Amino acid sequence: MRLISHWIAGSPTRGKSSRTSPVYDPATGRQTAEVGLAEPADVDEAVAAAVAAFPTWRETPVTRRQRILFRFRDLVTAHADELARLVSAEHGKTVGDAAGEVTRGLEVVEFACGIPHLLKGDYSEQVSTAIDTYTLRQPLGVVAGITPFNFPLMVPMWMYPIAIAAGNTFVLKPSEKDPSTSLRVAELWAEAGLPDGVFNVVQGDKPAVDRLLEHPDVRAVSFVGSTPVARSIYATGCAHGKRVQALGGAKNHMIVLPDADLELAADSAVSAAYGSAGERCMAISVVVAVGSAGDRLVPMIAERMRNLDVGPGDRAKDMGPLITREHRDRVAGYVDRGVEEGAELVVDGRGLTIDGFEEGFFFGPTLFDRVTPEMTIYRDEIFGPVLSVVRADTYDEAIELVNRNPWGNGTAVFTNDGGAARKFQHEIEVGMVGINVPIPVPLGFYSFGGWKDSIFGGHAIYGPAGVDFYTRPKVVISRWPDPVHRGVDLGFPRHG
Ligand code: NAD
Repeated sequence: MRLISHWIAGSPTRGKSSRTSPVYDPATGRQTAEVGLAEPADVDEAVAAAVAAFPTWRETPVTRRQRILFRFRDLVTAHADELARLVSAEHGKTVGDAAGEVTRGLEVVEFACGIPHLLKGDYSEQVSTAIDTYTLRQPLGVVAGITPFNFPLMVPMWMYPIAIAAGNTFVLKPSEKDPSTSLRVAELWAEAGLPDGVFNVVQGDKPAVDRLLEHPDVRAVSFVGSTPVARSIYATGCAHGKRVQALGGAKNHMIVLPDADLELAADSAVSAAYGSAGERCMAISVVVAVGSAGDRLVPMIAERMRNLDVGPGDRAKDMGPLITREHRDRVAGYVDRGVEEGAELVVDGRGLTIDGFEEGFFFGPTLFDRVTPEMTIYRDEIFGPVLSVVRADTYDEAIELVNRNPWGNGTAVFTNDGGAARKFQHEIEVGMVGINVPIPVPLGFYSFGGWKDSIFGGHAIYGPAGVDFYTRPKVVISRWPDPVHRGVDLGFPRHG
């Protein structure tokens, strides 16, 4: 069985641990490889490589770092199709969807190519007599990223381009479920001319993460994954004195008002609920239909679901399998629970099999109507192709429902009324808001971050917030006076 290794100090490394985890092709259900699971000593080796690389990388002129970023950007672009196929082979999403993931990751690389501009500080001349003051942004040192299975290329790319461009060195711990893409990325970094040890990959699970969180040489940790893990990573990382950003799970609502373009709303609900088989933190999992919208919208959604092309990621147009058999069974369990608790099952995706791929982890698109907030399918993040429709009598009731939800990652309103849209953007307690846009993932030059239980720590990820996260500010007050001595003054320094 092929062993997927770590990448430390510029080379693939088998590591000391004998623990491994299976990697599957979710379309066939067959194991394709095993991945080494790092033990603490493997993590120490990766961090030591990053520590060793830091002084030289930090001193490398920012324009030279920028040129490496440009070369990396060109290499990712040239290998975009290969990377998309690699993502699809281990994750299961369609190759077209994976190509979108590559493009969205590249946006952050392209943003980081502007690092000379992004690292510029402020300068104020003559704040006092012969005194100037200015700010610098300096790298932190070794920083770590811990990432989820659902975007094995894009989510790590939310982190390392900016971290590395800013002069840090990086240790990535990708998901053990789809680990190969990160190794291919490491090869592309090397080809781009990145010095050994600046970008390292340790494969693994909890023991590797725990070691990164407690390692004294790791200065900052970016985490993206489920809410319970995010909460604990944030607590542990902070307890060890690290700067931590931990992005968690979601339950994203899309409110549809009766005046909306319902054809657009139905198209958007289906695209946003079932794309990537619902395994997106920005997937729409709840449609809140206000007033008369529900009776018209639900049949329109169901009608569109009939035409979805579900199959292996390299053939199907719309939707591939789920990540593992266990996850597929968990999603099926939620659908059983929804029926037991009284939701109206409009389209049932249980038991879907694809000819020739009977062992694949497929689950069909599923639609529930008349879901209520007490039901398990409303309360939990299912992370599968299951869309719930909740009926609300009024717009205020719909907004209140979203604001009461413990998560606050993304949300959308569909309406043709500008005032209603403005009320939504003003009142809604969610970090990323779409107006007639179902998946409002910010562009690379903005920053991504939810509210409430969708994020722990004050920093959103990538964009300007990413530059803040991966640098520390220094403020300098400098005097180059005329050579006139003004005498001793023990009072607190005042300027002016
Ligand atoms: P997960 O929390 O199970 O795993 C995320 C990472 O943490 C992986 O690298 C995993 O190896 C590691 N991990 C898992 N359990 C751990 C533990 N007990 N201690 C330490 N490390 C642990 O998440 P997942 O299943 O890979 O990804 C899906 C989840 O990620 C969903 O909840 C989804 O909403 C969320 N997600 C959020 C965002 C966002 O931007 N907010 C983006 C993508 C995914």
